Amino acid sequence: MAARLGARGRAGAGAGAARAAWRPAAAAVAAAAAAEPRAPAARLDDGAARELLAGVGAFILDCDGVVWRGDSVLPGVPETLAALRAAGKQLVFVTNNSTKSRAGYLGKFKSLGLDVKAEEIYSSSFAAAAYLQANKFPTDGSKKVYVVGEVGIGEELELAGIPYMGGPDDAGKTIDLSPGLRLDQDPDVGAVIVGFDRNINYHKIQYATLCIRENPGCEFIATNTDAVTHLTDAQEWAGNGSMVGAIKGSTQREPTVVGKPSSFMLDDVAQRFGLDKSEICMIGDRLDTDILFGQNGGLKTLLVLTGVTTEERLQSPENEIQPDLYAGGLKDLLPAATQ
Ligand SMILES: [Mg+2]
Repeated sequence: MAARLGARGRAGAGAGAARAAWRPAAAAVAAAAAAEPRAPAARLDDGAARELLAGVGAFILDCDGVVWRGDSVLPGVPETLAALRAAGKQLVFVTNNSTKSRAGYLGKFKSLGLDVKAEEIYSSSFAAAAYLQANKFPTDGSKKVYVVGEVGIGEELELAGIPYMGGPDDAGKTIDLSPGLRLDQDPDVGAVIVGFDRNINYHKIQYATLCIRENPGCEFIATNTDAVTHLTDAQEWAGNGSMVGAIKGSTQREPTVVGKPSSFMLDDVAQRFGLDKSEICMIGDRLDTDILFGQNGGLKTLLVLTGVTTEERLQSPENEIQPDLYAGGLKDLLPAATQ
């Protein structure tokens, strides 16, 4: 099974090289803040759009807030994606949401009527499996993964041939404290992956904590550390930062973050898709994940205002993250892409 992901080629060596460049999200944020202040972002006009398209061979696109919002495709997006493809641009759809696997996302793209190929999708659930593969996590059954998260992580681990436990199977478990009660973790758990989990509970927190604290060499991997997420369009909801924060609090350990803005994901994406970073533009709606992710990797960056970031927030004096360009939406690239 492990060969299925490796079949696309360079997963092992490339992602292994990527690991050396990995740094935690918090350190990346601090590094960006300490760097020279960047010039304020320029609004994308036709000239800037044409210049961008001339210099870029690939676009890495965040999904929610860029391609869709909730369950609605944003205006002009299908036409713009088609025009970018027709102009010969490689598209890669990247998401920090680990609740679905790449196959799950393909279903969402198709249900929204968007023509996207499975290999153009890169989710943080897949990044977690790719990270373990890159670091030669055993597939012979001698080690397994404990999952705090939803079905996406387990589906990707299965494709990678990596045994796992927890996840949806531990939903609804309760701890009924009685004298002498103890929970014993499996000593073969060699990694804990923490992703967004609507069914997180005290059993999962205790089990993950025991694995990380008691099993020698057990890795602590976070798919992402987003503070908030947009489960409904009525308000912001606590994101995977809250689940990761629970395990950080009890283990006093920092996780290896594999999603945006860590460099693992970018290095692995660039390697897998054969992209040179100098020819990539990152398009996203969040400053602290998408734009920082692009800037950490030396990519061009385009912020779109169809998601969580308002123009006011972008231009506020407190904001230290400036993209190269910003636009009202992805559709603003359409005129230049069809010229
Ligand atoms: Mg987004």
